[in-house]
Amino acid sequence: MTKQNVVASEVTSDINMAIAVAVSKSSMFASAVQKPPAVPYITISRKKLLHNLEISGGARVTSWVDSMRASSPTHHKSTPSLSDDQSSWMLHHPSALDMFEEITNASKGKQIVMFLDYDGTLSPIVEDPDRAFMSDAMRATVRKLARYFPTAIVSGRCRDKVYSFVQLAELYYAGSHGMDIKGPSKGSKYKKSSQPVLCQPASEFLPMIDEVYKALLEKTESTPGAKVENNKFCLSVHFRCVEEKKWSELAHQVKSVLKDYPKLRLTQGRKVLEIRPTIKWDKGKALEFLLESLGYANCTDVFPVYIGDDRTDEDAFKVLRERGQGFGILVSKIAKETNASYSLQEPTEVMDFLRRLVECKRLSLRRQFRMRRRLEGMKVSLPN
Ligand SMILES: [Mg+2]
Repeated sequence: MTKQNVVASEVTSDINMAIAVAVSKSSMFASAVQKPPAVPYITISRKKLLHNLEISGGARVTSWVDSMRASSPTHHKSTPSLSDDQSSWMLHHPSALDMFEEITNASKGKQIVMFLDYDGTLSPIVEDPDRAFMSDAMRATVRKLARYFPTAIVSGRCRDKVYSFVQLAELYYAGSHGMDIKGPSKGSKYKKSSQPVLCQPASEFLPMIDEVYKALLEKTESTPGAKVENNKFCLSVHFRCVEEKKWSELAHQVKSVLKDYPKLRLTQGRKVLEIRPTIKWDKGKALEFLLESLGYANCTDVFPVYIGDDRTDEDAFKVLRERGQGFGILVSKIAKETNASYSLQEPTEVMDFLRRLVECKRLSLRRQFRMRRRLEGMKVSLPN
C-alpha cells in the first residue's frame, strides 16, 4: 500500500519514455515563500508499462473494484471483530490513545506540527460526499489545536470545498492531494513571513482537468448514484452511492475516458477513483513544502504528526518515516499495510487524541508559567 495504484492510461510508442509535461516555474508558484521545489515527473518503467499492457483489459478494473470492496466501511461491518491478523497488526500499529504518553514523551522539547486529512479523519465517510460535514465539537477541537500547534488540513478535495467544511481561517489548507496549498487567511502566530503561502504545482493541467470532468459527467450519467467531483487539480469519481454490482461498469466508464489522456493518472481510494496529473506531487510533498514554509526544513526539533485514513495519506506517512521525524497515525478499524506508526479507529477517536494533545500542551504551558513566576519571585527576594 505504500505505493499508489498508478495506472498508465495509454501506452505510447516509446515504451521507455517518461510521461512528462513541461511545468514552468513561474506558473508553479504564484507567490511562494521560498524557492519553488522542482517537481519531477512520474517515470513509468518498461517493465511496468508491459505489465499494464497485459492487464489493460478487464483485470485491472476488477482489481480496483476488489480493492475498493475490501476497504469499504460497509463491507467490514460483517467481518469478525478481532481476528488474529488484526491483533498482530495492532501490536505493530498500536492505538495512539493507548500510547499517548509515549508519543508526548517523544515530542518533548520539539515543535509539534499537525497535519490532518479531512474525509474519514475529521468527518465520517458518508454516502453523499457533499454532506461530509464535521461536527461542531470536532471544529472546536481543531480550533484549539491550531492555537497551540501549526495545523494544516491535507485533503484530496478541492481547497475551497474543504475550507467550506472546516471553516477555520487560521489553518493551512492543502487541497487536491496537496496540489493547491494556501496559508492561513487570518493571523496565525506560526506564519514565518507576511507573504502569503501559495503552491500550485499543477496549474497547467487545469484546462485538461476541466475537459475530462465534462467527459466523465457525460460518460457516467447512465450509472445511477455515480458522482464526479471536480477538485480543481484532480477529479474524484465516487462509488459510495452506486450499487456494488454496478462498480465494474462504472470503473470501465472511467477507464474509457482516461485512455485519451496519457498525462493523467488514475489512483484508487476508499470507494473512489481519482484522476490527477502525472507530476510527482502528493500529500508527502505537500507535507515537506509546508514544513519548509513554516521554517522547519532542516530543523531537528520539529515533530510532525500526520493523521489520515486513505491510501493517499501513505505518501505522507512514508515521508515521516524517511525523515525519522514525528509519526503517522492511520485511521482504520481494520488491519492495513501502512507506513503509519500508530492507529485510531474512527474520527471520534481522532477528536479524543487531539483533545488530549491540547490538554497536555495547556498543562505544560501552565507548569512553565508557574516555574517562571517562582524564579522571578526568587530573584526579587534575593538581597543585592
Ligand atoms: Mg481521508
